[in-house]
Amino acid sequence: MSDKSRVLVVEDEEAILLGLAENLSYAGHDVLKACDGPSALEVALRERPDLILLDIMLPGLTGFEVCRQLRDKGLQTPVIMLTARGDEFDKLHGFEMGADDYVTKPFSVDELLARVKAVLARGKARSTGPRTYTFDDVVLDLDSRTLTQAGNDVTVTRTEFDLLAYFLENEGKALSRDQVMNDVWGTEYYGTQRSLDSFVANLRRKIEKDTHNPVHILTVHGVGYKFVK
Ligand code: CA
Repeated sequence: MSDKSRVLVVEDEEAILLGLAENLSYAGHDVLKACDGPSALEVALRERPDLILLDIMLPGLTGFEVCRQLRDKGLQTPVIMLTARGDEFDKLHGFEMGADDYVTKPFSVDELLARVKAVLARGKARSTGPRTYTFDDVVLDLDSRTLTQAGNDVTVTRTEFDLLAYFLENEGKALSRDQVMNDVWGTEYYGTQRSLDSFVANLRRKIEKDTHNPVHILTVHGVGYKFVK
């Protein structure tokens, strides 16, 4: 068994696809390739790569749709979206569809490889940590990606789930908004502290008994947030 990471690259522009594949294999990864949405889904489900680099504008299905369908089928492989557009809507939409990170074209090879390394490392850290967290009557299960309260399923988006998991991993620490956004969504997610605040407000509505007096997700004035059990 090879301990190389297997990376699936999905890109319909052949020159970019081949360039990425070459650089990734030079950096020591095994590379799988797909050049449209339906074949990306098929290869990802069959080969179970460790990471997917996913272009957004693809023939057949968009990268958003590919990502959403993979998540719907239970595949939790980290996804880095490759986008030509840097706009905030794309990023938020991608995160809600289950992307883990973004790079905006044109990107440098060094930047992309650094991002690949970081996302793979995050995936490893997740797989060696505890698999469930509990507080009050709330249980967060990282394997089934479910949140229950008093035994009842609570519907959370992927972003809300990841954010809550991150808070639990960092229980008791005062976390700055920048730090939270970097760690949960990657380094490119900047300048949208208000979106973070709205994700926090949504989470509070789901896990706090009194959202006006939260006892778990606390605001640390001038800093950000702190989670306490
Ligand atoms: Ca494309």
